[in-house]
Amino acid sequence: MARKPNRAGALDPSKVTTAIDLDRQGKQQGYLTIPHSRDDSAWGAVELPITVVANGRGPTILFTAGNHGDEYEGQIALMKLARALKPARVRGRVVILPHLNLPAVRAGRRLSPIDGRNMNRVFPGRRDGSITEVIAHYVHTRLIRIADAVVDIHSGGRTLDIVPSAVAHFLDDPALMRRTLDAMLAFGAPVGMLLRELDAEGMLDTAVESLGKVLVSTELGGAGFATARNVAIADRGVRNILAHFGVTRDRVAPAPTRLLHTPDARSFIIADDSGMMEPLVDLGAEVKEGAAIARVHHFDHVGRAPAVYRARRAGFVWQRHALGLIQKGDCLMVIAADYRPVKVSE
Ligand code: CA
Repeated sequence: MARKPNRAGALDPSKVTTAIDLDRQGKQQGYLTIPHSRDDSAWGAVELPITVVANGRGPTILFTAGNHGDEYEGQIALMKLARALKPARVRGRVVILPHLNLPAVRAGRRLSPIDGRNMNRVFPGRRDGSITEVIAHYVHTRLIRIADAVVDIHSGGRTLDIVPSAVAHFLDDPALMRRTLDAMLAFGAPVGMLLRELDAEGMLDTAVESLGKVLVSTELGGAGFATARNVAIADRGVRNILAHFGVTRDRVAPAPTRLLHTPDARSFIIADDSGMMEPLVDLGAEVKEGAAIARVHHFDHVGRAPAVYRARRAGFVWQRHALGLIQKGDCLMVIAADYRPVKVSE
């Protein structure tokens, strides 16, 4: 089967083919095509929608969502942005991939049903790997490479619910940290969460940051469905990012962002029991250290007292397990603390 030419192929071959020319001016909507031979389609393919809007000189911003298939706010916002964005309103280039792990999106699942892989653990991907790795390899070698900043829109997915937040990482490079923080604040989510990942290997975030580029992520709700409020936060956020980087002339619509972090392991409440979860506080609650935050009931033993979980620090209930049933080892809640940057010099 003849393949369409791939412009960057000489650098690092990819199994992904596309008619999209990343260097062409104007608006293009098309597909990244990844061969997927299978029982119901011998010469089949996965066709990942991509939109490129380019006009003159300016930064390149890459927007991705659907990294996890069951997280919807970003996918909806990016489909809308891809339809609405006109070249005349752009200075620079905007690349939009609303459904990064399309097979997972189709299945309404976090992970790809084709290879069982988590897109956010396979970066920088492999050209000769499984389908999730092939997509990651293309995104890393072709799209992150040309981007000045990347916005990867996540939510909690089916099993977590999270107070709508823009997310940035603590970075060793203070200049990159500053630029990242500025972009995160420009997004304008109600919360700005600063994280230090326990296991950053394989994340899209790490792939971007290790190239010295700005990465803003999000956690915009979850529980397996979108809400009007959270989609509105995503819509405003992507437009604010474009304005922040000067790609559009829109004014940034500012919104107060409360900076939070998770200072240590005490923020993470892990279930030690399996059973039925009764929350005693809801997302956004302020709790004192030692406050009861949830019970886990042993529904097979109604006479047995439930396990009581308590906050191990004072703070803000940022995340909760979003299913009625919980298993030992699940993250039950995250209690975050306000982050107040320490001035190191006056
Ligand atoms: Ca996610």
